[in-house]
Amino acid sequence: MDMKKLYEYQNLRGDYFKLREKVNSTARKEELLEWKGRIEQINREKEELKKLIDEKNKLVEKIDSLIKDIEVKERDMEKQLYEGKVVNPKELLSMQKKLNELGEHKKHTEDAYIKENEEVFSLQRELENKKEELMKEYRRYQYEINKYKQNKEIDKVNLNELAKQIKEMEKEIDSSLLEIYFKYTKKLGNSVLAIVKKGKCEGCNIDIPKVDLGDVKAGNKLVICENCDRILVINL
Ligand SMILES: [Zn+2]
Repeated sequence: MDMKKLYEYQNLRGDYFKLREKVNSTARKEELLEWKGRIEQINREKEELKKLIDEKNKLVEKIDSLIKDIEVKERDMEKQLYEGKVVNPKELLSMQKKLNELGEHKKHTEDAYIKENEEVFSLQRELENKKEELMKEYRRYQYEINKYKQNKEIDKVNLNELAKQIKEMEKEIDSSLLEIYFKYTKKLGNSVLAIVKKGKCEGCNIDIPKVDLGDVKAGNKLVICENCDRILVINL
């Protein structure tokens, strides 16, 4: 009985199942999808900042034109005041008062202009940072997704190759032995054969009776571990 070949066969099948599990696993894909979601969120934040800056810029323009209006009114008032046409002291006093009020109004408006402008600058800085963050994340994401896709392709090729090798090996193993093996896989999965190491079954770590040990070494018949039902194979 070529137990060595059968043991190689079991190992090959083990490699196949492991790789198949990796190929079918969606864990990394889900991670990448989550990452994509975070990048889209950064992009939305960037767009919101842009919108906010546009709105602020319009407000700054409005305040600027308001200041210009006030300055026109101021000049008109100054012209009237110093032209000398108005001589009535009461009227002059009221005009001076209005001019002062315009000055106050202008000062407040200029303060608002400065404040809004500062906010625009700070928002623009925030926008630049956001753009940079987006670029960095996007590049890293692209790199990782390409790597993921490439590895997936390689794994698929290797999986097909393993499947081919398994089929080839099946031809080299005695069909009745293979039949027994498959019968056992129903109960034991892909761990049908267990190596005997230092007199113990590697499948369950229980001592093998001396008589069984001799039979395993002789290799003339199948020896089953009394404890875990695996077929025992000598350390090859
Ligand atoms: Zn055992």
